[in-house]
Amino acid sequence: MYKKMEILAMNRFDPYQSAALEPGVSQHVARRAASFGASSVLFYAQPIDMVRAHGAYMFDAGGRRYLDLYNNVASVGHSHPVVVEAVSRQLTVLNTHTRYLNEGIEAYAEELLNTFPDQLSNLVMTCTGSEANDLALRIAQSKTNAKGFIVTRAAYHGNTAAVAEISPSALRHRAPASHVKVIDAPDSRLASNRNCALHFERSVSAAIEELNGSGVGFCALIVDSIFSSDGIFSDPAGFLQIAVQKVQQANGLFIADEVQPGFGRTGDAMWGFMRHGVIPDIVTLGKPMGNGFPMGGVVTRPELLQKFCEETGYFDTFAGSPVAAAAGSAVLKVLKEEGLLENAATVGTYLKQGLMDLKERSPRVGDIRGVGLFIGLDLIDPANGSPDPNFAGLTINALKENCILIGAAGSFGHTLKIRPPLCFSKEDANVFLEALDMALALNDR
Ligand code: PMP
Repeated sequence: MYKKMEILAMNRFDPYQSAALEPGVSQHVARRAASFGASSVLFYAQPIDMVRAHGAYMFDAGGRRYLDLYNNVASVGHSHPVVVEAVSRQLTVLNTHTRYLNEGIEAYAEELLNTFPDQLSNLVMTCTGSEANDLALRIAQSKTNAKGFIVTRAAYHGNTAAVAEISPSALRHRAPASHVKVIDAPDSRLASNRNCALHFERSVSAAIEELNGSGVGFCALIVDSIFSSDGIFSDPAGFLQIAVQKVQQANGLFIADEVQPGFGRTGDAMWGFMRHGVIPDIVTLGKPMGNGFPMGGVVTRPELLQKFCEETGYFDTFAGSPVAAAAGSAVLKVLKEEGLLENAATVGTYLKQGLMDLKERSPRVGDIRGVGLFIGLDLIDPANGSPDPNFAGLTINALKENCILIGAAGSFGHTLKIRPPLCFSKEDANVFLEALDMALALNDR
């Protein structure tokens, strides 16, 4: 029997197996544990001592080169020279808070907001995706005077007290609090879920009724618009529409968490919600926004922000500094100049086709989902088609031995989460496909 996986535990190094570590690695792991204690989480059965990275590749202390299919932070490529140069230059000139006029900050906000529907015309900058979601919850509560949120079963939205509460996948030993209603993601694999749009809309409606009936009141539906920790659900495009209509008719808000799909990863649009033809009330941003410079943001309608700011003072010391604006502007410039949305679409289609071909050959490969450079591939037990997280773990470690970095997702931890930097090429895709083919064959013996 397989058990449910917690998203933060996937692909994790198990300290109780440290006897099997190579000697140098063992000392390094012990040193780290001495400082960071229980909060130290490392990837892989043999953790990697990573020293540098460039483009879609990372290099360890021994000079081994790894192809990175994990990292959506260094989205335009690790250590991209345009971003590095913009940040370094700005650091030598001015790095202060946002309470002065500054051309760079204003220009960045305008350029970013130009990528959104017209009504989403205000931006608040934060340092992380968690902060952005925390602020989004507060803005939504201020607008609706209600407290209840609807989230998906394996959602992860971040680490503040309020946001951890709407992140069922991070809660180890308990269900979320009573103001949070958990529903199934629009999972195209479930038999009962053939029409996943309708199923999702019905679940949302029932949760709205429950929240309103319990006196908590319905405030907002928040989803990661590619459902990454739930297992990556992108199709059929448009499946969010009827649920979002229901939310807005019920005087609630729809919050699109774009920390994962945002900044062009899906290849078809800058933002994941656009694939579904919906306009959120609030959008939250993070990870790829500064290509590694810590940045997040909330984009919303002016009247929502107005109401919140009348009620509460809000200030974030490090967010939206001129250096953050330089990083953010450089990311937008690289996305455009290097055609990275187009690359995500072209290479993503090529890679997905390669994975489909692999599925023909391997009974271990189940469903394949996703769009652009965000693809989920289920690893299953060929005997009965059930999720096989142990096999996923073996495959991830075997790929690592073959210098490929990749992670898992989904409620059962059996979905390979294929999410490389957007500069990933067809040649890189071929390297991965060959290594995956070998890893599947090796572990299946
Ligand atoms: N939302 C989603 C969908 C995420 O995946 C994450 C991080 N994994 C967050 C929010 C939180 O972002 P951060 O770690 O920058 O706080």
